[in-house]
Amino acid sequence: MARPTRAVIDLTALAHNARLIRSLAKSRRVMAAVKANAYGHGVLSCARVLAPHVDALAVAFLDEAHTLREAGIDLPVLVLEGPMSRDEIGDFRQLDLWPVVHRAEQLRWLEQAAGGWPGQLWLKVDTGMHRLGLDIAELPAAIERAQKLAPNRVTLMSHLALASEPEHALSQRQLARWQGIIDAVDMPTSLLNSAAMLQTLDDSAHWVRPGYLFYGGVPDNLSTSLDLQPVMRLESAVIAVRQIAVDENVGYGGRWRAVRDSRIATIPIGYADGYPRSARDGTPVKVGSAIVPLAGRVSMDMITVDITDHPSADVGTPVLLWGATPTIDQVADMADTIGYELTTRITQRVPRCEIAAHDRA
Ligand SMILES: *Cc1c(COP(=O)(O)O)cnc(C)c1O
Repeated sequence: MARPTRAVIDLTALAHNARLIRSLAKSRRVMAAVKANAYGHGVLSCARVLAPHVDALAVAFLDEAHTLREAGIDLPVLVLEGPMSRDEIGDFRQLDLWPVVHRAEQLRWLEQAAGGWPGQLWLKVDTGMHRLGLDIAELPAAIERAQKLAPNRVTLMSHLALASEPEHALSQRQLARWQGIIDAVDMPTSLLNSAAMLQTLDDSAHWVRPGYLFYGGVPDNLSTSLDLQPVMRLESAVIAVRQIAVDENVGYGGRWRAVRDSRIATIPIGYADGYPRSARDGTPVKVGSAIVPLAGRVSMDMITVDITDHPSADVGTPVLLWGATPTIDQVADMADTIGYELTTRITQRVPRCEIAAHDRA
């Protein structure tokens, strides 16, 4: 029998989440972030499931948009980092992509292209995250040029650095700047990502741009009454069980020490599969129907857990690393990271298995 480790992608859950997000967005248009292979979930399958529920998709750079177009996905696609060089403008045009313009030189490339720019374009303004975007001071001139290049086809966007804390001074500063900007213009706008959508932000913007919520995660431990369902389930099974005496240690470096006679189960998933090496002892793992603690360092190919209190667990018992419980966000917390990093880092050697939108058990 093959190694039991696999990532199950539940496309019914994705469709379910998409319907919830659609209603949360009310009348705003919805753009789904599917960059990084749909946060590691498989971009083509996800895009096809999302298509009836969203107005557009967002990717990070041109190659990711190519993948969508080559597969025949014809939804509008926003390219969040815009063209990297003048050479890319032809592809943007041919593939009918929406570029984000975050610096003035990109606008010049579009202006100088033969035939101008026939499609949509999004102008990004830096309101305080200081990663990407035009300075506020250069915005009026950029808007004027963009409007001339693409009359009534320009959307203004910005991005929040701490969307889960709208009351924080950093957010307040960004929100105040954003409000000042959008009050002065007459064009479609877009600000909110997943975390921002879970806040009671009064957002008059035309577009929302969530990503993580679609995949069923909840950013930054925000509370939500939305019944989001995890799209990824990371599964395996126990391959070895042993009894160890009190004071024995488990795994590399002997990090975990038995404080009583203990039963240890070994599970064939490790950091080479994308299970985070930074996971601390106590990270929750579901073995059978019980949640048990990780015991010892994550190895390249295996982890060990303490099943002393669950005598029915044995070789072959099914294991859930993340999914409904524990959630990916709980695991991420115990590994000092975020669920986004965990789903995007599942490696090639983990087989993926999709549950189609119509055949969920
Ligand atoms: C990735 C991304 C999003 C979506 O972020 P989530 O936290 O997944 O909702 C929105 N806007 C921009 C600019 C992004 O890069």
